[in-house]
Amino acid sequence: MSESSIPRIQHYCNGAVLPSNSNRSQSVFNPATGAVSGTVVLADLDDVNAVVAAAKAAAPAWAEMAPLKRARVLFKFKDLIESNHALLAEAITREHGKVFSDAWGEVTRGLEVVEFACGMPQLLKTQFSDNIGGGIDNWNLRQPLGVTAGITPFNFPFMVPMWMAPLAIATGNAFILKPSERDPSCSLLIADLFHQAGLPSGIFSVLQGDKVAVDGLLQHPDVSAISFVGSTPIAEYIYSEGTRLGKRVQALGGAKNHLVVMPDANLDQVVDALMGAAYGSAGERCMAISVAVAVGDTGDKLVEALVPRVQTLIIKNGMEADAEMGPVVSAMHKEKIESYIEGGIAAGATLVVDGRGVTVAGHENGFFLGGTLFDHVTPSMKIHQEEIFGPVLCVVRVPDLAAALDLINNHEFGNGVSLFTADGNTAREFSRRVQVGMIGINVPIPVPMAWHSFGGWKRSLFGDVHAYGEEGIRFYTRYKSIMQRWPNSIAKGAEFSMPVAQ
Ligand code: NAD
Repeated sequence: MSESSIPRIQHYCNGAVLPSNSNRSQSVFNPATGAVSGTVVLADLDDVNAVVAAAKAAAPAWAEMAPLKRARVLFKFKDLIESNHALLAEAITREHGKVFSDAWGEVTRGLEVVEFACGMPQLLKTQFSDNIGGGIDNWNLRQPLGVTAGITPFNFPFMVPMWMAPLAIATGNAFILKPSERDPSCSLLIADLFHQAGLPSGIFSVLQGDKVAVDGLLQHPDVSAISFVGSTPIAEYIYSEGTRLGKRVQALGGAKNHLVVMPDANLDQVVDALMGAAYGSAGERCMAISVAVAVGDTGDKLVEALVPRVQTLIIKNGMEADAEMGPVVSAMHKEKIESYIEGGIAAGATLVVDGRGVTVAGHENGFFLGGTLFDHVTPSMKIHQEEIFGPVLCVVRVPDLAAALDLINNHEFGNGVSLFTADGNTAREFSRRVQVGMIGINVPIPVPMAWHSFGGWKRSLFGDVHAYGEEGIRFYTRYKSIMQRWPNSIAKGAEFSMPVAQ
């Protein structure tokens, strides 16, 4: 591609591309080929101000619109996602690298939140107490916040924005998406579909960029709330800066998810579960399993069964129908994962399958890594303590369930966890005692449905509410209580003691 034919990926505001005078931009790559596929503009403060001003101008009329009418736009948006499912999935694979079937599933999981948001008139229904005393009624409302913003990671360029925008918009807010600069194109497809669905100008905008855009949104007095999903250091920064500046913030961070294998578990099911959960999307999922905890005598059998499966993973361009694993997102991320593998060897873990040095014929410049498996990993090793975010599975051996729980509960992160067992009481005890936000029993990746809520514990989430579901509606609305009495029911004059029910 000649330099002049490389697409420029811009902001979107007021129903159209927003031209930028920013002199900063960044290359976007197709990870399967290693080639530059676009250039994304990186916002300056003028861009931030323009997008926030458009959102602020549009928000009051949208907030005033009946929830049913807002929901009708969401219904059209849902139809448009369905008819553009393949286009969205292709855009994801092209810039992220994950295999097409996985990208297709990502679109489906995002669509489910849109379907949930279509029911907003019912979900916004509140509580009413008739005649609490003296002719007074008391009820509550949930009202929108105004201008809200979402800052999203590279690994789910469609699904994570859908955790936020449909709920923010259906509850009556304007929403600004600041997508990852590594795979920004999907955000413009979302904007176009919202526009086609009839969403008024200014209610959904896209601000492309990096820290400058994020800091601009954090510091802007007209932004009321920020939803963030990404790595833990940035989540912590967004939470502390945003709350210091008086904003409502939910910030979801990184993860290190364990899958506990009890001696009574079905080993074939465990191996299938681990293959998909550790190596699917090249391990670049916040709910990926990156540690298998082998309880009792399961370690040798587990590793023996995993080795041939990891060695024969079909690694290809994600657009090829039989690909099981695509490339990782960037050359820099590939190097970072390789340095973790070197660190694991140096720390004394046993490297059973080495994914370094894998090449894919015809894609020699792609950012490919093979599946990697470590055995005899211990809690003090960096490869157990830190999030690698690549196709690297660590096996830790423990004597019993209590030791497995200690290992997990002492970990910095608490996003997801899985237990494979045939025993109901073991499952029950584990679910109740584990210090993790999302639990799977014989389910490797327990991502909650749209009408439940998503979020981790400990340093996997900063803030009080989880994403989407009813927690999401609470996040994007303010609670208001109203007490009402009409003049001819006022029996007394001024009262100076605490009012109580008569
Ligand atoms: P990241 O933290 O690097 O980036 C996330 C967002 O923050 C991007 O939009 C980026 O532009 C912005 N950003 C990056 N550096 C910044 C800085 N210094 N100041 C302000 N903003 C900054 O994360 P990533 O690499 O894109 O995504 C992978 C991470 O996201 C992993 O840690 C993964 O576990 C996490 N994640 C978590 C969840 C969850 O629900 N808990 C879901 C998906 C991904």
